[in-house]
Amino acid sequence: MLASDSPPGRLNLLGCTQARLARLMQEWGQPKWRSGVLVQWMHQRGVLDFGQMTDLPKTLRAQLAERCCAKAPQVERVLNASDGVRKWLIRADDSLIEAVLIPEGSRRTLCVSSQVGCGLNCSFCATGMQGFARNLSSDEIIGQVWLVQRELERIGERVSNVVMMGMGEPLLNFEAVTDAMDLMQSDHAYGISKQRVTLSTSGLVPQINRLGEIGCEVSLALSLHAPDDELRNQLVPINRKYPIAELLASAHRYVRTQKGRRTVTIEYILLGGVNDAPGQAERLAARLRDLPCKVNLIPYNAVDGLPYRAPGEREAAVFQNILRGQGLVVTLRRPRGADIDAACGQLAGSVREITRRQARAAASGRVS
Ligand code: SAH
Ligand code: SF4
Repeated sequence: MLASDSPPGRLNLLGCTQARLARLMQEWGQPKWRSGVLVQWMHQRGVLDFGQMTDLPKTLRAQLAERCCAKAPQVERVLNASDGVRKWLIRADDSLIEAVLIPEGSRRTLCVSSQVGCGLNCSFCATGMQGFARNLSSDEIIGQVWLVQRELERIGERVSNVVMMGMGEPLLNFEAVTDAMDLMQSDHAYGISKQRVTLSTSGLVPQINRLGEIGCEVSLALSLHAPDDELRNQLVPINRKYPIAELLASAHRYVRTQKGRRTVTIEYILLGGVNDAPGQAERLAARLRDLPCKVNLIPYNAVDGLPYRAPGEREAAVFQNILRGQGLVVTLRRPRGADIDAACGQLAGSVREITRRQARAAASGRVS
């Protein structure tokens, strides 16, 4: 996958899986194992200058420098929230994307973006408001981990978990995202275990099936947000194409392909007065009865210009208790990083495109 700012025609090796690099080494008449050495230099030691990769032959180093490049994305700014959450604003052409680091005990969870904007238009989401600009390349996705790891290793820490929950719908950028997740898990790169790499999707059934078919082993999180199709059609428009029953069936199939822990996370944003009523909790529990899952309730994080609000504490507690009463494992997520707009769904970066909603508003004469 080429980086946006790579010299034209040069492969950016930062985003290449070890298998891809092994093919390159073979094409060049080199032993395959040198791919592992390359991956280690770039991702474990953080060295992107081929000239400094001293245990590779000089001729290979020269060939790499001539034909390829290794480039990390450029950081525009780093913002620090009062609760320890940090947000990296990263340049992607003339737009900005975001990666968010959430420290919690010994965990260092990085929330990674997969697209510039998002085209799926969920009615509550800041990223969705911007429309879609483009897919990120695999080097731009793994580059987010690369950048944050470099900062953390200076203080003796490392990225321990990755959640593909930043900007964009990861399953609509399938190849680049699966390549980047491969590197996250590779022992020569970041060595993060399967359970600690999570992909969150709004519910693209064919792509969930494909994840299972290619033997991808990551934790799957489904953004459900409603117990019935009528409401979900409004909140998550992709539901009109892949309704809840089909989505839950595909999640079930996916967990059956997984070794070890076999559960899916159900994400459910609590939108005050919209999807947080006791009856809705009961219907949700009924729908999830046969699925090996845990439920993550996310109180809505406010987004300027959107008509939703967080639920009251009491409503959230009642909702949680009903689910628990039906035997479900439930967690209520504590909002973090809100003072730097780094909480779930607040990631907007800056997408320099006329977005769908802006265009629609312009057409109806609301903005000039
Ligand atoms: N596109 C993917 C991943 C990115 S969104 C998806 O939709 O799953 C990551 C999570 O943040 C999703 O569960 C999404 O529904 C949630 N989210 C979006 N806007 C939010 C908001 N304003 N408050 C809380 N969570 C939000
Ligand atoms: Fe896209 Fe996810 Fe936001 Fe929906 S919630 S608009 S799928 S980023």
